[in-house]
Amino acid sequence: MSGTQTHVIIVAGAGPAGMAVASALSKAGHEIIILNRDIKFGGLAEYGIFPSKLKLRGGLKKQYWELLQQKNVHYFGNVSIGNGKDLTVEDVRGLGASSVVFTIGAQGTKAIGVEGDSAQGVFHAKDVVYHFNRLPGFGDRPFEMGKHVAVIGAGDVMVDIAHWLIRYKKVERVTAIVRRGPVERKYNPKEIRSICANMDLEGIKSEFERIKDRLSKVGQNPDDVLRVFTDEFTKCEPKVSETKMGFRFLASPKRILVDSNNRVRGLEMEDNRLDPKGEDTVAVGLKQYYEFPCDSVVFAVGDRVDETVGLPYKNGMFVTNPNKTANDPDDALFQAYDDSTGQVMDGVFLAGWARKASEGLVGVAKRDGDWCAEVVERYLTTKSGGKDAKIVLDHLHSLLRNRQSRPVDVNGLRALDVAERSFAGKADCIGEFKFAANQDMLKYIEQGRM
Ligand SMILES: Cc1cc2nc3c(=O)[nH]c(=O)nc-3n(C[C@H](O)[C@H](O)[C@H](O)COP(=O)(O)OP(=O)(O)OC[C@H]3O[C@@H](n4cnc5c(N)ncnc54)[C@H](O)[C@@H]3O)c2cc1C
Repeated sequence: MSGTQTHVIIVAGAGPAGMAVASALSKAGHEIIILNRDIKFGGLAEYGIFPSKLKLRGGLKKQYWELLQQKNVHYFGNVSIGNGKDLTVEDVRGLGASSVVFTIGAQGTKAIGVEGDSAQGVFHAKDVVYHFNRLPGFGDRPFEMGKHVAVIGAGDVMVDIAHWLIRYKKVERVTAIVRRGPVERKYNPKEIRSICANMDLEGIKSEFERIKDRLSKVGQNPDDVLRVFTDEFTKCEPKVSETKMGFRFLASPKRILVDSNNRVRGLEMEDNRLDPKGEDTVAVGLKQYYEFPCDSVVFAVGDRVDETVGLPYKNGMFVTNPNKTANDPDDALFQAYDDSTGQVMDGVFLAGWARKASEGLVGVAKRDGDWCAEVVERYLTTKSGGKDAKIVLDHLHSLLRNRQSRPVDVNGLRALDVAERSFAGKADCIGEFKFAANQDMLKYIEQGRM
């Protein structure tokens, strides 16, 4: 703590990074105000991680509940920050806290940028994930998948989408479209267990046959690569559908082909070769094009931050201080920076996926939050006396009242929890009951308070 001084710190976002910042700084005795877009806390731990990962989700939830019970932690769910939202960035900075930490994740979607990307049947992975995890705005509208879904990507999110398509949607076929080859796959081998019972092994063998010359050219032995690739198909979760899961390697979608109703009918694909690049490889287009039939496409190629929030933004990221700081040079990595004025935004910090979009698992976001909390602590030692928490909270309440916002506090969350548990018998395919619309949540929160 900065001497005997305690400060008020606003944490925007209640995902793993924000909760880590809040936890570390509350333990240091500061007053923490959490502002979160979603009614519920957890971010992608609530609305991203696959529903069947009960142990991981349950463990995180327990920790987060414990944090929110602390007297010096004040939770405001259903409060969105951004232009035209409940509060602007300037409103938040003007509340009088000593510091504001933005841990609002990576809410933007990477522009797909291929012709036909607005066709019916084209989706962003994050939206699909939000849909099956019942995030309001996504959980309450249909995501119509066809029979053959092409998922672009080779990471864990691709596997999660395939898992949902295989287990719950029971589509006929899922094909992962991978720019480079099988060696460059990015998913964790453990994750593949959720879908390996559905692998179309014959199809995978013929796909290896198709690309074997291109693998050999970069010194990858196709037989060895196939063996290592398929050896990971062990401890598969039981098969629950007849969906066939396959891969198309060394292929980049160039155009989405549509029918007369603007519905996806396939992808125009370009074949790639691999070129060595140091220890790694790069994909190089061969200008050989062909049609790949499918009726839905999900882009699982990572996310970027939401540029409409009002924080300085460049190339998919919020801008951080490019200059090393004097006390600890790496502190700069967390400081928000206004590149139009060339000034650090005093007291404003970034952590988690808001700092580095789509970077790593929960543990990485938590570590980033912990690290950021240390940076904030160092910053606070340079500040004399913070404002009284009551003054900041009164100011916040009055602003939210004026904006007709409907913030949800920890008591509201408890009422919601009770209501959702009472509907447990109505759990759907994701194994738990969740209201998928804010209106429903708010209704039960009000009722629970009466
Ligand atoms: C599909 C998918 C599956 C994953 N599965 C796993 C897994 O199995 N295991 C694992 O360890 N990790 C997994 N991860 C990674 C993990 O979810 C992330 O590392 C972590 O959630 C990032 O934390 P964060 O706090 O930076 O952002 P987020 O979790 O995105 O949290 C952001 C928070 O900010 C709030 N917010 C957003 N915008 C605003 C705004 N404008 N104003 C106010 N609040 C706002 C949101 O409501 C949210 O609570 C997965 C990620 C994805 C996308």
